[in-house]
Amino acid sequence: MSEYQVNENGYFGNFGGAYIPEMLYPNVEELREQYLQIIQHEDFQQEFNRLLRDYVGRPSPLYPAQRLSERYGTTIFLKREDLNHTGAHKINNTIGQILLAGKLGKKRIIAETGAGQHGVATATVCALMGLQCVVYMGAIDIERQAPNVARMKMMGAEVVAATSGSKTLKDATNEALRDWINNPVDTHYIIGSVVGPHPYPDMVARFQSVISAETKKQLLEKTGRENPDYAVACVGGGSNAMGMFYHFLDNPDVKLVAVEAAGKGVYSGESAATTILGKEGVLHGSRSILMQTDDGQVIEPYSISAGLDYPGIGPQHAWLHKTGRAQYASITDDEAMHAGLLLTRLEGIIPAIESAHALAQLEKMVFNGDEHVVVCLSGRGDKDLDNYMKYFGF
Ligand SMILES: *Cc1c(COP(=O)(O)O)cnc(C)c1O
Repeated sequence: MSEYQVNENGYFGNFGGAYIPEMLYPNVEELREQYLQIIQHEDFQQEFNRLLRDYVGRPSPLYPAQRLSERYGTTIFLKREDLNHTGAHKINNTIGQILLAGKLGKKRIIAETGAGQHGVATATVCALMGLQCVVYMGAIDIERQAPNVARMKMMGAEVVAATSGSKTLKDATNEALRDWINNPVDTHYIIGSVVGPHPYPDMVARFQSVISAETKKQLLEKTGRENPDYAVACVGGGSNAMGMFYHFLDNPDVKLVAVEAAGKGVYSGESAATTILGKEGVLHGSRSILMQTDDGQVIEPYSISAGLDYPGIGPQHAWLHKTGRAQYASITDDEAMHAGLLLTRLEGIIPAIESAHALAQLEKMVFNGDEHVVVCLSGRGDKDLDNYMKYFGF
C-alpha cells in the first residue's frame, strides 16, 4: 500500500483519524464500515461514471494552453474543471456522496457552506435525486453571497443561517454537526473537501481522483507520456489538489505543487498560508495542520478568494507536506488577481480566483523548456466578476 494513502486506522502518517464527539460516533462508524465496499462496487462505479459523463460533462478537457506556454517557455496544460456543470470540481464529490447516501438509504442531506460553492453543488445533486436538502451557512456569508443563496433556494434547498460566533463557515459547520447528531438515521452529511473525520478525507479524494485519472489518459494521447513533470493546484481544504495529485502520488518523477492563499502577505495577519503559519492540531474532526494561537484557538484565515479562506488543510496534505512529497507554496491576493487577468487576456478563459492562485505559481517556477506542466483549473471566474471588476477598476 502507498505510504501516502490512508492506513487501516484512518491515518495518513500521524494525521487524520476521527476526533468526534461520542454522539457522532454511530454516524461516522456506519460510513467507515461501508464506504469502501459501496464505492468500489461495480454498480456504483458505473452509475458514478455515467453521471460524471452525462450530467457533469466529463471528461473535462485537458487544454494545451499555447500562449500561456509561450509566456513561460514550457508546455502548460490546463485541466478544465471550470467546464463542469456548476462551474467547478466540487460537483465530482457531491455526485459521489449523493449516490453513497442513496446506497445507505438516507433520505435527507445536510451540508455546510462558506462562500456557497459547496452548498450549490450539494443542492444541485439533491435536486437531481429528489432528496431533501438543508444547507447551513453563516449569517454573514448569506449576506455576502446572495447569488449562491438564490441558486440553492431555486434548487429547493433550505438555507439555514448560523447566527452564533463569527457567523461564518466554522459556525455553519458546528450547526451542521449538531443537526447530524440529532438526525443520525435518515441523514447524510456531505462534507465538501478532503477534511473532516475519517473516512471523509479518503472518500472525497477518491471521488476527486477522476481528475488525475483523466489527466493521465489525456496526456498520453496528446504527448505520448502519461506523467507530467509538474502537477499544480490550489489548496483550500485541498480537494481539487488531491484529485490532481492522486494518481501521481507514488511516482516521484511527478513534482506536486500545492498553492495556498497568502492573502495580503504571509505575515500580514491576513492570510490563509496554513503550512507556513500552522501547527499540528485537531480541526473539524481530524488531526492535521491548522492556523492556531499558542493556546489552541483557531485563527481566522483571510483570502480574497472565498474558497481558499480556510484555517487548515486536509490530513493527507499535512502528510504530503511533512514527508516533502508535495511542495507547498503561497500566493498573495495581488499575485492571484494578476494571474487571473493574464489567463483571461492570453487564453480567453476567466478563472476562479482560487484557480488563479495555482496559475500565479507559474511565475515563480523555473523551467528549462521541455517540461509538461498540468495546472488544475478548479473553477470558472463568473462568480468572481464583481471582485475582478472592483480590483482592476473596469
Ligand atoms: C471550493 C473551491 C476551491 C477550494 O477547495 P479545495 O477543496 O481546496 O479544492 C478551489 N477552487 C474552486 C473553484 C472552489 O470552488
